[in-house]
Amino acid sequence: MSNTMELEEAEATADQTKTILATAHCRFCRAPLRHTFVDLGMSPLCESFLTVDQLNIMEPFYPLHVKVCDECFLVQLDQYVSKEHIFTEYAYFSSYSDSWLKHASNYVDMISERLGLGAKSLAVELASNDGYLLQYFLKKGIPVLGVEPAVNVAKCAEEKGVTTLVKFFGCQTAREMVANGQAADLVVGNNVLAQVPDLNDFAGGIQIVLKPGGVATLEFPHLSRLMEENQYDTIYHEHFSYFSLITVEKIFAAHGLVLFDVDEIPTHGGSIRIYLRHLNDTSKPVKPSVVNLRQRELAAGLDRMETYANFAEQVIDSKHKLLELLIRLRREGKRVAGYGAPGKGNTLLNYCGIRKDFLDFTVDRNPYKHGRFLPGTHIPIFPVERIRERRPEYILILPWNLKDEIVSQLGYVREWGAKFIVPIPMARILD
Ligand SMILES: [Zn+2]
Repeated sequence: MSNTMELEEAEATADQTKTILATAHCRFCRAPLRHTFVDLGMSPLCESFLTVDQLNIMEPFYPLHVKVCDECFLVQLDQYVSKEHIFTEYAYFSSYSDSWLKHASNYVDMISERLGLGAKSLAVELASNDGYLLQYFLKKGIPVLGVEPAVNVAKCAEEKGVTTLVKFFGCQTAREMVANGQAADLVVGNNVLAQVPDLNDFAGGIQIVLKPGGVATLEFPHLSRLMEENQYDTIYHEHFSYFSLITVEKIFAAHGLVLFDVDEIPTHGGSIRIYLRHLNDTSKPVKPSVVNLRQRELAAGLDRMETYANFAEQVIDSKHKLLELLIRLRREGKRVAGYGAPGKGNTLLNYCGIRKDFLDFTVDRNPYKHGRFLPGTHIPIFPVERIRERRPEYILILPWNLKDEIVSQLGYVREWGAKFIVPIPMARILD
């Protein structure tokens, strides 16, 4: 076959791909998805940690090609894997992060006082994980119900006394809960919205399960922070959607819920917590915080396609800077270890092509991950003590959102003069 023919074939395949992409539709408004936000290439599922037996077999990789809808500006990823697959054995246990537990406990203090919750109320958390949050309501005598599809983490919640419905949440589950007398005064959803395959079913479910005067609060990483700070590593297959205030407001308005307040919070690199109520519950007026943030998003251009088109260039620049730093350190003969094995680390390492040629190993506090290997890059995961044993000169912090906590936990590395590296927004060595 001649070169020309091969090229023509390749072009035909590329055209086909375009056709397939153009048939994808927005998860919320169903408009055709025509624009790329960023294409991070092929990556394995970020929570699929491998055992030693699995290192020698084929490993599935899926595209991490993020699009943006030109109708509603929802930034989104095609769903390549079923939600059942993602949640069968969910490796993320919320209780392994001290700062996250503190965040949960502070939230519970704030919201129970603000809403006047007591022994006759019901606080429901969607994707309640191992009960890391609901346990603090129980301590105050406030009844709780968790909804969590992953069996293994739900079991840990039950052991803490947190009653847990092992189910996916949506309109059907919401109707069953109401029928069982489990309508909620408060619905909490922390870092779950991004993982919802059917946004309309989920938002509709909240509308159903929430009592007439009830409040729902949802926390999720803020798209404008992701864009401003190059947080491309927070993109992974398990996160289907990335939200701005202007888009999330539209989604809930379509289901009779009004976004009446918003807090900007530092978790996960910059999140927002939105407060929702029923359309006819006029006892809770829309606060200036909502108007202000909406105006800032419009001023930043989040309602214009050209703003989204610039993101991909920044990401490439960030990758090049991280590789330049690591190449320099390795050429100088320095040993570099990782800290953490979070989902975001796997996106970063696979996209940048960082394997054992750059990172000797990584460590994590979660025993589930010990003795396993990072998906795609096959970097081994050890208990944190390995840092003290091996004394690497540099430690690349993969969960950079927890960098202060990690630097203080690992204070002892100063004994041998080790330094920390953060990869995002641009790679740098911490002083
Ligand atoms: Zn849309």
